[in-house]
Amino acid sequence: MNNVCVFCGSNSGLGSAYTQAASRLGALLAEKKVGLVYGGANIGVMGCLADSALANGGSVTGVIPESIAKLNVSHTNLTDLRVVATMHERKALMAELSDGFISLPGGLGTLEEMFEVLTWAQLSIHDKPCGLLNINGYFDKLLDFMDNMVAQQFVVKAHRDMLICESSEARLLEAMNSYKPPVVKKW
Ligand code: AMP
Repeated sequence: MNNVCVFCGSNSGLGSAYTQAASRLGALLAEKKVGLVYGGANIGVMGCLADSALANGGSVTGVIPESIAKLNVSHTNLTDLRVVATMHERKALMAELSDGFISLPGGLGTLEEMFEVLTWAQLSIHDKPCGLLNINGYFDKLLDFMDNMVAQQFVVKAHRDMLICESSEARLLEAMNSYKPPVVKKW
């Protein structure tokens, strides 16, 4: 993967575990010469991730809609900052620029972004790996719910299994590098 898109909280979450994980991931991406694509903000888990990638010599592209840029939360020190008209344009550009997607702990925006790229994968709109960094067991209940979606026959197991879950950033990157998309059809 040359570029990875990371979705994560615009808040920092409780305690320091989430921002620390973001800093570790930013440093690892820089070390592996993997470009970071993210939402372009300087706040929360997002800001820590970008700061760490930059501090370690990495390349960071932010993609931010005008409406959010106006709130003065754009990171001013990125390798590249793309300001786009709408949230939909932003997500399309983030996806186009990236060879894979990682979700870190975050809120509604993070979940929406993660499920959108998973949905696109299940429809074979892309075949890029989708990873989840499960820090502090933050996503445990969501993963249980995804298993329930399979048990209740709303999701094919091979599609649920597309989401690569790890609690270590190094293992997550390794697993994403060897990802093979499923050949299963949704219907
Ligand atoms: P949330 O998880 O609700 O904090 O939303 C974070 C996700 O939504 C990020 O991955 C961003 O792509 C997007 N997002 C939400 N708020 C902002 C913001 N203030 N600046 C830039 N992107 C944001």
